[in-house]
Amino acid sequence: MTPQKLYEGKAKIVWATENPGEVAQQFKDDATAFDGKKKGQIAGKGARNARISAVLFRLLEENGVATQLLDQIFDDTLLCKKLDMYPVEVVVRNYAAGSICKRLGFEEGARFKAPLLEFFLKDDSLGDPLVTDAHIAELELVSGEELAEIKRLALKINSVLTGFFAERGVMLVDFKLEFGKDREGDIILGDEISPDTCRFWDANTKKKLDKDRFRRDLGEVEEAYAEMLKRVEK
Ligand code: UDP
Repeated sequence: MTPQKLYEGKAKIVWATENPGEVAQQFKDDATAFDGKKKGQIAGKGARNARISAVLFRLLEENGVATQLLDQIFDDTLLCKKLDMYPVEVVVRNYAAGSICKRLGFEEGARFKAPLLEFFLKDDSLGDPLVTDAHIAELELVSGEELAEIKRLALKINSVLTGFFAERGVMLVDFKLEFGKDREGDIILGDEISPDTCRFWDANTKKKLDKDRFRRDLGEVEEAYAEMLKRVEK
């Protein structure tokens, strides 16, 4: 049987499996930035991100956060529970970087008094705009009750990951999460957590160990992904 491609995104392909409740997520070496205007390849990224994401999802499971991960079935492929995804991206920020610096004038690296949560609408044609709680309610993207649970989960995930990375000499600057609902109606963490979706800085040198090396042409891109895999597997 030829595997059926359900969806191909910028960095992943989602394949159907023989079980309708499960999908296989294959991580690609392709990299894009600036709404797809910058395109490239990062050798070895697919397998490294799959591994990093699997380790982090397992860590979260151990800490009581339900995730879609079932198993790592190939170097670059994770077997996952199929979810009905919410059309929002949840960004958690501990230090200022990226879009919030441009938007609000924070200096890169400024530490926030408390983790900041932001929501972005997943809509390429609109350029994934920031949405407030009021926008989310008006557009009926997520119910009020679900939004409260998503915020609680995002902050819990942040506290688990912040501690894990601190022990490995890494500052978790910011990261993006995506949630979905399973057949039982439970809210589950989906997608990935990797150097593509997080900003990681070496705690001592502040060297960037994430996709910003690709976005900003900083060099040593493959090396950064390899270094983060090494630290995660420590
Ligand atoms: N992020 C992501 N996917 C997106 C947008 C952002 O994974 O489509 C991640 C990004 O890697 C960073 C965090 O979310 O860790 C915050 O990103 P920001 O809003 O600063 O956007 P940028 O303009 O830097 O992509």
